[in-house]
Amino acid sequence: MSTNNPTQVQNTLAEINRNSNSGKGIVFDPQTDELKTMNPAANAPPNTTMITSIAKDGWALNTPVVYAYEQEVTEFIENGNPLKRGAAFGWQDENVYHVHVDFPKTPFSGIPCIAIFAKVSKEEFISDKTTLANKLGIINSSDNGCNKTIFYIFYFDGNTVQKAAFLVTDNSLTECCFQYVPQKSELFSRSKGLLETDVLEKKNVTVIGLGSFGSNVTIELAKAGIGHFKLFDFDRIELSNISRHICGTNDLGRYKTHAIRDAILQKNPFADVQTFEININEHEELLITEIKNTDIILCMTDENRSRSRINALAIKYQKKAIYGRAVTRAEGGDVFRYIPEKTKPCFACLIGKGLFDFQKEEISTTKQADRDLPAYTNAEDRDALVQAGLSSDILPICNLIVKLTLVELSKGLNCGLTSLEEDLVADYYLWANRRENNYKNFPKMEYKANQLSILRWYGVRVDKDTDCPACNEVTIQLGF
Ligand SMILES: [Zn+2]
Repeated sequence: MSTNNPTQVQNTLAEINRNSNSGKGIVFDPQTDELKTMNPAANAPPNTTMITSIAKDGWALNTPVVYAYEQEVTEFIENGNPLKRGAAFGWQDENVYHVHVDFPKTPFSGIPCIAIFAKVSKEEFISDKTTLANKLGIINSSDNGCNKTIFYIFYFDGNTVQKAAFLVTDNSLTECCFQYVPQKSELFSRSKGLLETDVLEKKNVTVIGLGSFGSNVTIELAKAGIGHFKLFDFDRIELSNISRHICGTNDLGRYKTHAIRDAILQKNPFADVQTFEININEHEELLITEIKNTDIILCMTDENRSRSRINALAIKYQKKAIYGRAVTRAEGGDVFRYIPEKTKPCFACLIGKGLFDFQKEEISTTKQADRDLPAYTNAEDRDALVQAGLSSDILPICNLIVKLTLVELSKGLNCGLTSLEEDLVADYYLWANRRENNYKNFPKMEYKANQLSILRWYGVRVDKDTDCPACNEVTIQLGF
């Protein structure tokens, strides 16, 4: 067995570590890339990192890691007072801390700590940090009932920023490993090539309804780098939402708009998110103002009246719109895309042709049942009809909505989604999760490729309804 075998390295480290009270220690020397044993440990040469404990997987753990937001730090260095108290959140068991120059806009997990940011001179930067911390009153201020204090110092030499971070514990300082959460431009660099992230960052998406569909679709779009969101929903997060929603129990009782805004900002702290806790059926003027300045409308509501209104407004203001939903017990679902062109069908054309049957709509909450079922339906029947499908039944439908949205928003660009544009030519799509009810006659998938099957998409050709009262009005107007 080679001496480079990780298990052997791990065992060797663990062996020395077990005898740590003997005064022996291990250091990592960055000049030679080697681990060395030191005896006694206190004699570690400069620039080496002392390894004091061994994690279960064999990796050494001793240096606290702190993350700072590069943009916040840049602003602090350029504009802020030389000494500033910020906020930090830590996971002490894991030795990880996140710091902010100002208290963050979005809720964070971890235990709250204090962060002190200081701009110092070159002399101070290279001086003894415990003395410096004492001089700035930082060590004394750590005795405030808070868990930890993180002390950051910055020295700006005109071209580059020198930085260091320390964890203040019991009047002593431990140097931390400093990590940046990158600025805007780098956040989505991994998607470059596949997505036109620079273009998507400028796009504006309006989402109507933030239930299981709206929440999942919105967060996927934030991950893809969409930069601007308008969120419409007047509901709050309830226990019955949690199993299929992007938000968890920590958001119970909050407006869905606010909880999703915070979830977007966790993915992209630079996103611009506007929230509207209104019933769109009652505040159409506001909706119109916002729709006029959007690139696409995602109609993720489970309510027909608002779907019809969105359709009318999408036609009137020439906006692309996407509709999606699950059908009975999420045995399947359908997605419709409206493109404001003369020859294209609108949402009302789809209904006029007997597609998008409302009777088959999935009833996922008692609130929806109360609203949609006839008033004479007794409570027992109503409860029996509330049969929400699983989140895993919803996600494939959300995924197509996301793909269609990204294709529409990157049309005309040469990027990784260009070929998908040639595939997704249909405006109406059907998905089946299980061979039940509507899909009970589907043959079993097994190994067959050339037949109807569950768990795949079918694009359906839908022609414009020449008698459609919703979209022909515009054609007539345009004709004059
Ligand atoms: Zn129509």
